[in-house]
Amino acid sequence: MNNSEKYSIRILDLKNGSHQFKFSISDDFFDDFKGSEIKKAEIKIELTLEKNERAVRIETQLTGTINTICDRCSDKFDCPVELNEILIAEFGNANSDLSDADEKIIIARDAVILNLKKHFFDYINMSLPVRRVHNEDQNGNSLCNKEMLDRLENINKIPEASKISDPRWDELKKLLN
Ligand SMILES: [Zn+2]
Repeated sequence: MNNSEKYSIRILDLKNGSHQFKFSISDDFFDDFKGSEIKKAEIKIELTLEKNERAVRIETQLTGTINTICDRCSDKFDCPVELNEILIAEFGNANSDLSDADEKIIIARDAVILNLKKHFFDYINMSLPVRRVHNEDQNGNSLCNKEMLDRLENINKIPEASKISDPRWDELKKLLN
């Protein structure tokens, strides 16, 4: 089974009614998305498909973690994510472009498989919060990497540390004292 088939559903074989599917996504999923900002993730996807004569309603529930960079300490961490999205796939004469995270797509009436790989990729990207920071422990202490924070603080301090004595400031200091 190649990576694409792994994230496909044999839509033609499905009877009308409700169906459940489960998918696990880990690091190898991102191998086919070369420019992907996300390289490491552990994601569980649960699909609920409702098929009728005219369309398939696909509800995607996504939970897991994405390895990303903390906005505060710049260290990598596993950011918890979740997302719930609904996609309507209407039966038509030909497949529409599946490259967008659209809410509605057209699939050919005689299509054998529905490949959801690109949709999953879009959903995973959508699930990342705008602000990504380490959580806090039970005592409310940040789980940020202290060493990294100290280092960042030192970088910000460099102009001050390298400050050489300026006679004008020395005069001013005398006035202030
Ligand atoms: Zn952090």
